[in-house]
Amino acid sequence: MKLTLWTYEGPPHVGAMRVATAMKGVHYVLHAPQGDTYADLLFTMIERRNHRPPVTFTTFQASDLGADTATLFKRAAQGAYDRFQPQAMIVGASCTAELIQDDPGGLASTLGLPCPVVPLDLPSYSRKENFGADETLLALTRALAQPCDRTENITCNILGATALGFRHRDDVAEITSLLLQMGIAVNVAAPLDATPADLARLPAAHFNVLLYPETGESTARWLEKTHAQPFTKTIPIGAHATRDFIAEVAALAGVSPTVDEANLRLPWWSASVDSTYLTGKRVFIFGDATHAMAAARVARDEIGFDVVGLGCYNREFARPMRAAAKEYGVEALISDDYLEVEAAIIAAAPELILGTQMERHIAKRLGIACAVISAPVHVQDFPARYSPQMGFEGANVLFDTWIHPLVMGLEEHLLTMFREDFEFHDAAGPSHHGGKATPAPAQQILEPTPDAATQMIEAAQALAHALHWLPDAERELKKIPFFVRAKARRNTEKYAAEKGVTQITIETLYEAKAHYAR
Ligand code: SF4
Repeated sequence: MKLTLWTYEGPPHVGAMRVATAMKGVHYVLHAPQGDTYADLLFTMIERRNHRPPVTFTTFQASDLGADTATLFKRAAQGAYDRFQPQAMIVGASCTAELIQDDPGGLASTLGLPCPVVPLDLPSYSRKENFGADETLLALTRALAQPCDRTENITCNILGATALGFRHRDDVAEITSLLLQMGIAVNVAAPLDATPADLARLPAAHFNVLLYPETGESTARWLEKTHAQPFTKTIPIGAHATRDFIAEVAALAGVSPTVDEANLRLPWWSASVDSTYLTGKRVFIFGDATHAMAAARVARDEIGFDVVGLGCYNREFARPMRAAAKEYGVEALISDDYLEVEAAIIAAAPELILGTQMERHIAKRLGIACAVISAPVHVQDFPARYSPQMGFEGANVLFDTWIHPLVMGLEEHLLTMFREDFEFHDAAGPSHHGGKATPAPAQQILEPTPDAATQMIEAAQALAHALHWLPDAERELKKIPFFVRAKARRNTEKYAAEKGVTQITIETLYEAKAHYAR
């Protein structure tokens, strides 16, 4: 048992629902207790789809458990076929149904339905949503893909985009147009918008573009092994990675890697003088491994941030994540426990968090700027406007999204210079976000109530309980701009501990500053 309040991923059958809902002509019969239809809302409310997911739930109740739940399943499967007449069906069990062991695959096969029926074996108690999606696409592909000749022109498949995927819709559009510029047509994009007939002709493409390893890698590997289709390894998030991706695709397809970059604005935006203040800003990055690793590269190499924390919640990608974190000189945080993530954020004292919906809540509590880079996300991250993360337009979107929550350069100076001002006091947030920049009460200016930065300082203080800050040193510390104060405090305490000093004076503060500046 594990006490859990927030989970980064749902159970694996939600991953299977993401594949079924992404596709057309597929129906999913899910053996599940009454109430599991809550998952419909993910698609109809968060992703705002205008139809119910193509899922029939058996919705068994407590009273059914004493009777024949297997017959209930068979009736539901037959009814779903009669009503929806899908080209293919997937059948499986949710967590509770897994316990009653009715074997949906075996039961469905006794019905002799006139369409392929693909059984899913998703271990709900050991795996999660992304695994469920990855496994479902693989199971469907294995069952449906047919050996066929390659297309005459050079084509590729795009793998991994699902329903409820973070910006999948626009990423597929952006990458499709990039490939077209290179003279490469898309054979099939799957599972998003593909039909079972489309999966049958996956092997006709010359190679595969794997956009989301979390949900498409098993299929890409299977197609490579079974149909000799190589697949791309670079995830085109950020300008540098997009150029690498173009080079990789050009090599696979034997075409020229020349692509028009006229609409790419990120490099100039971040090189322009207004972005100088972004250099060295401390950023903590957390999400699914693919988005987090890609974000780290953009943050350091394209915007000039300092990556002070990097991690992911999906353990399947722990190894590449650890290797990536090493490159940034940090220890990878592999955890699906948001409390652990929160503690790591407090310890790293970043000025910006790039994360999921969970980190948005953590950032709010701690008063730190935050932008969303990965699922799980809420409704605002399924925007109406075109907002890819991938390709050159995706790079533009990343720049705007990540910079927006930060206090602007001039304002940062004002907040530091006039920290006792009625408007530009320490606790005031970025004025372009409104609300927070209300005048602080006079008493609060003289003696600020603990703000988020102070809370972080207090947490660090608890760790360094053996140390004592003298009032003068404490006052001096407050002169340091709020966004680097927590780091200055930590460094000073680390320095004092190393020197065996228990009382921190102004001198200790400046000695530590000189020490770390070397
Ligand atoms: S079957 Fe799984 S998803 Fe459904 S209510 Fe039970 S624990 Fe939740």
